[in-house]
Amino acid sequence: MDYEQVMNDKKLREQLEGGETIVLTMKVIKFTGQNKKLPRVIAITNKNIYNISPAEGSAVKNFFQNLVQKSRIKRKIALSAIIGITISKIVKEFILHIPTEYDQRYQVDDQLALIIQTLCEVYIKHNLKKIKCFFIEEMNLSQYTTTNYDIKKNIRRQLPKQGSEMTVDEVKMAMQASRGNVQTLYQKSNSPEISIEDFTLIKMLGRGAFGKVMLCEKKDTKEIFAIKSLRKEDIISRDHIEYLKTERKILEQTQHPFLVSLEYAFITQECVYFVMKFMIGGELYTHLQKINKFNEEFALFYSSQVLLALEYLHKQGIIYRDLKPENILMDEKGYVALTDYGLAKFLSKGQVTQSIVGTPEYLAPEVITQQGHAFTADWWCLGILIYEMLCGKTPFFSENRNQMFRNIVESELKFPSTLHITPECKSLLTSLLKKKPNERLGNKGDAEEIKKHAWFKRMDFQRLISKEIQAPIIPDLQSATDLSNFNPQILDEKIEEGEPQGTTNTQALKKFDQEFYGLNYKKE
Ligand code: AMP
Repeated sequence: MDYEQVMNDKKLREQLEGGETIVLTMKVIKFTGQNKKLPRVIAITNKNIYNISPAEGSAVKNFFQNLVQKSRIKRKIALSAIIGITISKIVKEFILHIPTEYDQRYQVDDQLALIIQTLCEVYIKHNLKKIKCFFIEEMNLSQYTTTNYDIKKNIRRQLPKQGSEMTVDEVKMAMQASRGNVQTLYQKSNSPEISIEDFTLIKMLGRGAFGKVMLCEKKDTKEIFAIKSLRKEDIISRDHIEYLKTERKILEQTQHPFLVSLEYAFITQECVYFVMKFMIGGELYTHLQKINKFNEEFALFYSSQVLLALEYLHKQGIIYRDLKPENILMDEKGYVALTDYGLAKFLSKGQVTQSIVGTPEYLAPEVITQQGHAFTADWWCLGILIYEMLCGKTPFFSENRNQMFRNIVESELKFPSTLHITPECKSLLTSLLKKKPNERLGNKGDAEEIKKHAWFKRMDFQRLISKEIQAPIIPDLQSATDLSNFNPQILDEKIEEGEPQGTTNTQALKKFDQEFYGLNYKKE
């Protein structure tokens, strides 16, 4: 199966060993030590694997046409030097592990099964033993690839934890099993069927309580998104499945200019992925930190959007419960949207809930005292948010958490003497930060009361929702993937770092699937 007609190349033919025959040649993408992708041809023979490239200087786009004349062997790997193969169950990538030199990582457009099968066949025939295969659920195999750069730095990357010695038939079965592995949960109505492997991960953007969020590009359209991945095992072990179900439901059901929109959702054997609009301006928190405090005009602009977002969620019967500047993300125009529904909950009118969830500084008194809280707890958080934007700190803050809780429940609301705010603003904060929920502004059941407050009267909500008002901060961006508004420390993290790799607890995964798909969560 010399699809790339390597045997037609005299020079290449001459380099084959005596008795060596080509079994398969195929176009592949090879990753360099620096994670760059190069178009190559893999040639599998009964003795070696060749990585073949065009001659220096030839145009890459002409490579395949020119292969026969200009091809050059870049690397020859003896089948006896390979100690195993790692294969991704969700993207078409594999690694040849070669401990005597360094590993080789490939991506395949098509025909991954054929390449892997052929590799296994020639390996087993040549080495007279089964082949060690690591089937892992990873989108990016770089963490398991010991590159030539790693070798120079004396780094040897660990092999994935689970691997088994396999026959060709076992490999075939494993390949088939992994093909049905990815399931699409959600995608915007008329987009063609796509899957997780249609995205390339670019950088880490953030970490949440459960998942990690990465910048990614849709391979065909080059559109940029943020993708959040959550491991099923973590969700189960921390008893968070109900929250995840709610998060998914909210992401799928909601559409509002001030809520981060969901584009796709996928589920694989081990993870759940949410693909969302990339909010290039980063967290509102970052912008607040830069200038320490906002003036009233800034605070009004952002809090009005939050108010509309919360109003919308409440109308859908959702209490948000995790308002804070870290969960408010800015888009390219300087408008904001709420993200992270990890703590949100569906509540019916009049129903209360008891669980203590949220961020300590933002917890409402009735949440701390577990008297039962409902939608008005979000209005408390709105008060804390506006206060924090204006003062640069939350009103009841203490380093000592218990003291902070006591302050929230018992202490009077105070304003720093240096703070100059309008009486309307003071009145709004005092009414939102009423300890008793039934005395709090917004307790009548909707946001209208808050919108009508003198402070918010200055805002034209109609123009705001149509995004016709000029934002006070417009991110200074150089490109569609400008990451200057994100934490450089997180950006520096390797995409795969910290991923508890494939210690698949099948019991936990089964439990997850039963609970996640149970009741009304069957694939639509
Ligand atoms: P989360 O787990 O949703 O709290 O996300 C953790 C962090 O990832 C956030 O605080 C943001 O810094 C970042 N992040 C989450 N979603 C997005 C998004 N859609 N666009 C850009 N950054 C995001």
